[in-house]
Amino acid sequence: MKELEEKIRKEGRVLPGTILKVDSFLNHLVDVALFSEMGKRFAEEFKAESITKVLTVEASGIALASIAAQFFPNSPRVLYAKKSRALNQDSNVYSTPVFSFTHNKQYLMTVDKQYLLPTDRILIIDDFLANGGAVNGLLRLCEQAGATVCGIGIAIEKGFMGGGDRFRSEGHHLCSLAVVDAMNDGEIVFRQ
Ligand code: 5GP
Repeated sequence: MKELEEKIRKEGRVLPGTILKVDSFLNHLVDVALFSEMGKRFAEEFKAESITKVLTVEASGIALASIAAQFFPNSPRVLYAKKSRALNQDSNVYSTPVFSFTHNKQYLMTVDKQYLLPTDRILIIDDFLANGGAVNGLLRLCEQAGATVCGIGIAIEKGFMGGGDRFRSEGHHLCSLAVVDAMNDGEIVFRQ
């Protein structure tokens, strides 16, 4: 998506350790107009899928998932998985351990069982896809619930980290609006 790529080029900052900082429109300040265009793009890509819920993970995924959901038919609800540091002692939740790339530590990703159902047709949405740990956690929660995952929508995929290509090779319908293939000396190269 050209508009997103231009925004990344203009406002993105490459930090040491392959982190792309985009706080001015995605991870701190939210550019609602841009999010709406991204949401429309996801709705177009997944329009045939009869999505019943949009699933994301707190915190940054919530705004994008919520703005995107309104462009889908039948007003799917947005369900966000929580990140807990405690061990899971709650039998009312589905849970899975996830390694956080940005915080360099493991957390427990959980959703309440009553909100993720075997009848659900799920679209997973997140702000970034790097190694794939966060998306993989969301896939595992859907698997535990017996829900059908119809697609994965990502704002920015760091293609050089391999998570996205792995999901594609596994047959997932993955739509990344910008794929960064390299961040060399601060120069950002997008996949064509
Ligand atoms: P993964 O689990 O795919 O390795 O990483 C995805 C998660 O880590 C996303 O939910 C996102 O919050 C965070 N993340 C990974 N790489 C970046 C990055 O370069 N910049 C920002 N802002 N977040 C990232």
